[in-house]
Amino acid sequence: MKGWTIRQKMTFWYMLTIICLLCAFFALLYGTLTPAIVRGVQERIEQDAVSIGPSVADADGKLKMDDVVISVDTLYTVYTPDGVPAFANHELTWFTDTPFVENATHQVHASGQDWVLHDGAINRDGTLTAFVRTGAPLGSYANTASALLLIFLIAIPAGAAAALFIGRQIAKRSLQPIDEITRTAEEIRQGDLTRRISLPETQDEVGHLASAFNEMLDSLETAFTREKQFTSDASHELRTPLAVIIGAAQTSLGERTLPISEYKAALRTIYKRGVDMQTMLSQMLLLARGHEQTKLMEITTINMSDLVRDIAEEFIDMAAKKQIEIHLDIQEMVFIEGDLMLMTRAVMNLIDNGIKYGKQHGWLLIILRGPDGRAVLVVQDNGHGIRAQDIPHIFDRFYRGDASRSSAGNGLGLSLTERIIELHKGSISVQSNVDEGSIFRVELPLKEAD
Ligand code: ADP
Repeated sequence: MKGWTIRQKMTFWYMLTIICLLCAFFALLYGTLTPAIVRGVQERIEQDAVSIGPSVADADGKLKMDDVVISVDTLYTVYTPDGVPAFANHELTWFTDTPFVENATHQVHASGQDWVLHDGAINRDGTLTAFVRTGAPLGSYANTASALLLIFLIAIPAGAAAALFIGRQIAKRSLQPIDEITRTAEEIRQGDLTRRISLPETQDEVGHLASAFNEMLDSLETAFTREKQFTSDASHELRTPLAVIIGAAQTSLGERTLPISEYKAALRTIYKRGVDMQTMLSQMLLLARGHEQTKLMEITTINMSDLVRDIAEEFIDMAAKKQIEIHLDIQEMVFIEGDLMLMTRAVMNLIDNGIKYGKQHGWLLIILRGPDGRAVLVVQDNGHGIRAQDIPHIFDRFYRGDASRSSAGNGLGLSLTERIIELHKGSISVQSNVDEGSIFRVELPLKEAD
């Protein structure tokens, strides 16, 4: 059976089951029907023996026989008490050699067939008057048995043929979705990751397999697209800093000897672009990781009140350069659960943007609250604001508003922030008006009290 297909195995087992069931059915039928027929014949001849009794009279020591009505098939002989046959509805010598067993029914084989005999005693006023032997051939029993055997011999091959046909159809129908899955897998192997198994949605095992397969393809396609996107973004975004680095290195390595200050300037450029590339790469890697990022997170209890305050302090110098005032309105003891490194990065991005895109002499308001099981962080500035058409895109990778192109950045900060908040099961939203400023609002689940 090793080389058999599932379809062949299913058909075989189906056929075998049907044949076994048919055999069991016939055995049961044979085992219960034939004894019932024999019992019926026995009861009939016993009843007939009883019916014959009253018709036999003893007249002065001689037996007399009135007319009697008994079953057509029953043969009988009436004997004198000495065992001499007196009357019979056929030859008198019928079964005379068979020993007489009083008031008993027994089976004998004679003249090539089975018989059932019943020997009854006829008593008158307490005296034995006669014996009556009734009997019938078991021909009908034998006929039924051989008919059953014949039916059995026809039914088995016919049943097997029907089972083979039906089994094949059932196997074909139930394995059809598997063929569809195989076909789809084949197409996917040839490079079409967008293909899905199109089967009617069923709740059976194959339906579950098909939907699990489609879900697996969804994740594969997402991962594959992300990978492709990452490679194309990386090569695109790294091209400019690499060109600058190569340019600076070429100038420094040229034949012409340069003043030392120019070498230093070239090295500074190379270093700065190198650091930019490093930051960008680590940000892109974080964004490119899908579900794996969840596994890499180091979850601890984070005191958001301390974290936001500490980060804000780190930005005081940067804000001072633009004469931006940072105002803090922080509720104490707001705790969340999360990855400290990632959360620090998200809060830093928001505050950094607030200052970077803030106006000279402006302000930045940072509010932290912990109402209704949520930690709410608001970072509001009165800076340049974001154009309405830019708002839907600012969380996209590498998106930078037109006005922002002159400032430092790579357009990855907000998409990274959004991803981090999402990894912490929170949400981020923005409200902004050009020349009035922007409000970024982050909501995170509070750490549940122990
Ligand atoms: P980057 O700051 O490196 O350009 P981000 O992803 O942090 O990248 O931001 C994307 C874009 O969203 C920015 O280029 C800018 O146009 C806009 N933006 C983000 N934060 C602010 C803000 N506080 N005020 C005005 N514009 C902002």
